[in-house]
Amino acid sequence: MHELALCGAIADTVNRHAEGQRVQRVEVRIGHFRQVVPDSLLFSWELLTEGTPLEGCELVIDHVPAVIRCAACEHETTLDMPIMLCAACESSDVTIVSGEEFLVSSIERTKEVC
Ligand SMILES: [Zn+2]
Repeated sequence: MHELALCGAIADTVNRHAEGQRVQRVEVRIGHFRQVVPDSLLFSWELLTEGTPLEGCELVIDHVPAVIRCAACEHETTLDMPIMLCAACESSDVTIVSGEEFLVSSIERTKEVC
């Protein structure tokens, strides 16, 4: 139900910015560390928006890779697995550069047809 909760947060943000207008497309940036399953997120989005003003709104997922920087050698490692080790020197003294993102990056309102 992780994805459904995330969708709820997305819908709240979109509704706040929609100002009563219909929204046709929403882009979200989601970091690798969030461990979101895109298909599951899209399914939850459909489920959650059904019968609301956001029904039919397209959800676009922008995946942000998990990157860590090593404090010992300053090497930056892009992680496939959530193992927090520097690829160059195997130090575990690392800080997260990116991959924790979860934000709505773009909201596209339906063009008003006069
Ligand atoms: Zn290192």
